[in-house]
Amino acid sequence: MQVHSILYPSYVDGPGPRVVLFLQGCPIRCPGCQNRHLWDPKGGKEIPVEEVARRLLTTGLPVTISGGEPFAQARELAELLHILKEAGVHVIVYSGFRFEVLLSIAGAVPGIMTTLHLADVLVDGPFIASLKEGAGPYRGSANQRAIDLPATFAAGEVVEVDWGELAVSILPDGSVVSQAEATPVLKSLGPSQRTRRCGETCAASTPLKAGGRTYAFALAPGAEANAFIRRPAKG
Ligand code: SF4
Repeated sequence: MQVHSILYPSYVDGPGPRVVLFLQGCPIRCPGCQNRHLWDPKGGKEIPVEEVARRLLTTGLPVTISGGEPFAQARELAELLHILKEAGVHVIVYSGFRFEVLLSIAGAVPGIMTTLHLADVLVDGPFIASLKEGAGPYRGSANQRAIDLPATFAAGEVVEVDWGELAVSILPDGSVVSQAEATPVLKSLGPSQRTRRCGETCAASTPLKAGGRTYAFALAPGAEANAFIRRPAKG
């Protein structure tokens, strides 16, 4: 499969920490997309599905599959899901296609239905810049839904995951990671700087790679970024 990168740990691509697979290639081309460098289906690197799975499972983390458009490689995506779910890993898949669109084309595109039945959560829909405000945790714009796939297929109607609860994690290196709403509560600890947004492929400022003691916060929904790093004063 065509891969851009594998990034971990991530705290902004679903409830973290997680490992994120960024697949290469996207035909959707949303205006304002932050990952235009992932549009070219010939970019990145071709890596066998089994090797991608091995690299993801080696981290021991739950998996998020993003892009790019994962369903543009639906057959390989389904193969990957088979391996990951056999290993018992929780998997979130992001897609620029709405769930209903994926269902409507699943009969003609091998791999789509298998993936939808194996993955745990689908975050669906294109990025719509005008709906960026109030997007909610782990989403780019407010139109996107976090769909609980097993519950949805059991109920016969879309069931969304409740990611609204505030989560604060203290990491082994002293970092504090939280969702957007915690920023006002925790800002008394000192100045912050932003790190990756949900879906960003830049790894330069992820909390544990920033070095030393760092603090990561998520910005309020609709703010410029959805995660912060706070560096405590020296001494
Ligand atoms: S679906 Fe995602 S990667 Fe594709 S254009 Fe839209 S925001 Fe960019």
